[in-house]
Amino acid sequence: MMYIAENEIWKLLETVFDPEIPVLNIVEMGIVREVNLNNNACEIKITPTYSGCPAMNTIENEIIKVLSKAGIKSVKVEKIFTETWTTDWIGQDARNKLRKYGIAPPEGESASDFYDNILTKNITCPYCKSTNTELTSEFGSTSCKSLHFCKDCHQPFEHFKCI
Ligand SMILES: [Zn+2]
Repeated sequence: MMYIAENEIWKLLETVFDPEIPVLNIVEMGIVREVNLNNNACEIKITPTYSGCPAMNTIENEIIKVLSKAGIKSVKVEKIFTETWTTDWIGQDARNKLRKYGIAPPEGESASDFYDNILTKNITCPYCKSTNTELTSEFGSTSCKSLHFCKDCHQPFEHFKCI
């Protein structure tokens, strides 16, 4: 009988992506809060991102699939709601990845009123770094992103809202 180590579990979890942000895995997103390993049974604690985010069930199923494939017999995914996920949990490397992908990362600290934030602030263009941008829609392809247009390089881009 071979047991898998906890750091291997984390590595496997890094292969699971948030379908709404396909460039960041769930560990980079700060979604995975805890890994508890007991022999060959595994319990993963995750914090849902945006409340009611339909991606959470997909993520949960994907975690079970990936870990089962690796030979873990019992996988339990528990959603924790005692902590509120915030974009502050997205690390600096992950923010750079977002920018390279063409999504402006959340700017600064989480805003208690993010609507106010995106409506009044000119989000930095991920392509040319210009702040000469405008908000074109509060909702992009998913509700956690807003749509902007850069007046300098004339490209539309998405912005990961700050919460
Ligand atoms: Zn630009």
